[in-house]
Amino acid sequence: MENPVISIVAPLYNEQEALPLLVARLNALMDASELRIEVVLVDDGSRDKTPLMMQQLALSDARYSCVFLSRNHGHQLALTAGLSEAVGSEAIMVIDGDLQDPPELLTELHAKMKEGYDVVYAVRKKRKEGFVKKSAYFLFYRLMKSISYIEIPLDSGDFSLISRRVVDILNKMPEESRYIRGMRSWIGFKQVGLEYERNERAAGEAKYDFGMLFKLAYNGIFNFSEFPIKFVSSIGFGAILLSLVYFVITLIKKITVGTVPEGFIALLFVIVLFSGIQLIALGLIGEYVLRIFFQSKNRPLYIIKQVIRGGKAN
Ligand code: UDP
Ligand code: MG
Repeated sequence: MENPVISIVAPLYNEQEALPLLVARLNALMDASELRIEVVLVDDGSRDKTPLMMQQLALSDARYSCVFLSRNHGHQLALTAGLSEAVGSEAIMVIDGDLQDPPELLTELHAKMKEGYDVVYAVRKKRKEGFVKKSAYFLFYRLMKSISYIEIPLDSGDFSLISRRVVDILNKMPEESRYIRGMRSWIGFKQVGLEYERNERAAGEAKYDFGMLFKLAYNGIFNFSEFPIKFVSSIGFGAILLSLVYFVITLIKKITVGTVPEGFIALLFVIVLFSGIQLIALGLIGEYVLRIFFQSKNRPLYIIKQVIRGGKAN
């Protein structure tokens, strides 16, 4: 499609069950909309029929551009690839491929953007997920808000409409461990939230397991906050202070009463406690060093195997 105004970007990983439903919804949306919309689907190294289905789709419908990554790079990097391949001149909407983010919200997001915003992010009113996952999300977002050095809105994920100029800036940010909702927020300009109800995934199973969610949360914490390092140093200071007090008390006791406490257990306890704290501290520093290590390799963030655009493979 030539000169689209809006791009819709969706990463897909083993979504053969959800893809037909997604395409039906997107087609209906594009048919009804007056905007020139292109869809950029990113195959994140799927092992099922997703790539095949995407190929057929992109070759038969020029509104769909399909990007195929060389292997599974993870949701955030697949999204990054999609954002840099999207050509929409006005704005880019980011959605999940499993229809948890209703594409139809584009109309409202776009209307809001017209009021003069650069980023309109969707805020989940209700989550239709299990209790454990829901509570984990709830706690994580609140923790992030209280420790992060930038304002990351509560209960909002990557689902958003982002202006062309903000996407251009995102595309120029070379960081390796990506937490896109944080980066988006860091960029600034006028940003606003819009409430919506998050659906259950349309078909198939969640591709994010707890390990991956944990990694994402980790990236959020270590990339957007100095809290862990600061926290450990304050424990260190606190410990020194406490031990000083204890030292002074013992000294006074020795001078006045002349006894030294037996305190073997106390000693053992203190040694174990502080070796633990030191190990944690080393691990935390390691987290930051690891990030520097990976970033300093300066590798490309993802590798594209093939792009099919305008009904043609290239
Ligand atoms: N996804 C991806 N690469 C991955 C894992 C997930 O592109 O390695 C895609 C997936 O196909 C879906 C979106 O990211 O479109 C969100 O994944 P999922 O629904 O599994 O996550 P959840 O909604 O549970 O957070
Ligand atoms: Mg999902």
